[in-house]
Amino acid sequence: MQSISILGSTGSIGVSTLDVVARHPDRYRVHALSAHSRVAELAQQCERFRPEVAVVGSAAAAAELESLLRGKGLPTQVACGPEALCDIASADGCDMVMAAIVGAAGLASTLAAARAGKKILLANKEALVISGQLLMDAVAANGAGLLPIDSEHNAIFQCLPPGYTRSMPAHGVEKILLTASGGPFLTRDVATLNEVTVEEAVAHPKWVMGRKISVDSATMMNKGLEVIEAHWLFGAPADKIEVVIHPQSVIHSMVSYADGSVLAQLGNPDMRTPIANALAYPERIASGVAPLDLAQIAQLSFSQPDFGRFPCLKLAYDALRAGGTLAAILNAANEVAVQAFLDRRIGFRMIDQLIQRVMSAIPNRQAADIGALLEQDAQARAHAEALISQ
Ligand code: NAD
Ligand code: MG
Repeated sequence: MQSISILGSTGSIGVSTLDVVARHPDRYRVHALSAHSRVAELAQQCERFRPEVAVVGSAAAAAELESLLRGKGLPTQVACGPEALCDIASADGCDMVMAAIVGAAGLASTLAAARAGKKILLANKEALVISGQLLMDAVAANGAGLLPIDSEHNAIFQCLPPGYTRSMPAHGVEKILLTASGGPFLTRDVATLNEVTVEEAVAHPKWVMGRKISVDSATMMNKGLEVIEAHWLFGAPADKIEVVIHPQSVIHSMVSYADGSVLAQLGNPDMRTPIANALAYPERIASGVAPLDLAQIAQLSFSQPDFGRFPCLKLAYDALRAGGTLAAILNAANEVAVQAFLDRRIGFRMIDQLIQRVMSAIPNRQAADIGALLEQDAQARAHAEALISQ
C-alpha cells in the first residue's frame, strides 16, 4: 500500500488522479489533499478519500473547511498556506506526491518533495521551467523520483530505454519529437487573433484542462514550456527538441533514434493514462481510459509549427537557449498576461507582446539560485502588471 499527497486535488489533474486512485483501493491511500479556494469540493473529496490532512489557501478557507468536516464527523486535520503545502509534500506519512498546483505557486512544495526524497508525479511544469537545474539537482541529491505527468513527457519517458541517464548520445537518441495539437486557433485567420474571446481560447479541441493551461495551449506557450520541461527531464538541448503539429492528439510524443527508428506512444487524449503510468511505474494498471479505436480515428496528420502564428513558442525556445533566469522571467510574464486575458483586461495578442517586452526589459542573470529566481519572478510580474495598467 502506497500513500499519496495530492497537491491541487480540486483541479483538472487532481480530479483525474483521484479517479485513478479510487480504482485501486488495494494499492493506494490518500495521505493529504490540497485546494486553493474550492472548499466545498475539497470537503467532498475528504469525505470520500479520508486523508489525514487537508490544506487550503487562507485562514478563512481553513475555518470554512474545518466546520464542513466537523459537520460530517471527519477527523481530517486542516492547515493553510504555502508552508502547510510543503509539509504535506514532505511528510513521513506519504510515499508519493502529485504536484498538480498550477503555476509558480507549485514550486516550493515540489522542491520540498524533492528534498524529502519522495516519488514525485510532476504535472506542475512551471516548476521545471522556473528552476529546472535546482529541481533536478534536488531530486538527484536526495534520491527522489521524478515521473512526468505531462502527456508528452510521459510518452517520451515510455519511449526511452529503462535506466535512461539524461544523456541522448549515450542511448543513441537522435531527437525528441514533441507533438502539439495546435490548439483552437491552428487555422484561424491570424489577422483576427486579437479578437478571440476567453470562451474561444479555453475551448481546447482535444483536452479538457484548467483555464491557465488552456490559454497556454491556444498561444502555444504550453508547448514552449514543454520544450523547456523536456530539456530538463531528458537532458535534451534546444536543437534536439522538435515540435510537430498533430491535431488528432493520438500520438502523445515520439523519440527518434540513431538507427532510424522512431518510437511513439499512442492513446486517447485522457490524462488518466499518464497518471496511471506514473502511479504504478514500472507496473501497468487500469486507468478507466477507453481503448484506442484506430479505424475510427482513420487518419493521423503532421505539420511544422508556424512561429508567426505562435510567437510564444519562439520566445520559449529563445529563453531556453539563453539560459540563466530568462525562463523564469518568461514564465512569470506569461502567468500575469494569461490572468489579465482571462480577466478580460487585455486582448489575446497582447499576451505574446507583453511577454516579449518583459523579457527584453529585465536583464537576464546567469547565477540562478532560488533567491535570484524568485527575485526575477517578482520583478517580471511587477513589470508585466505595470505594462498592463499603462
Ligand atoms: P487547474 O486550474 O484545474 O487546477 C489547479 C489546482 O491548483 C487547483 O486544485 C487549485 O486549487 C490549485 N491552486 C491554484 N492556485 C493555487 C495557489 N496559489 N496555491 C495553491 N494551490 C493553488 O489546473 P490543471 O489543469 O489541473 O493543471 C495543474 C498543473 O498541471 C499545471 O501546471 C498544468 O500546466 C499541468 N498540466 C495539466 C494538464 C491537464 O490536462 N489539465 C496536462 C499537463 C500538465
Ligand atoms: Mg502537455
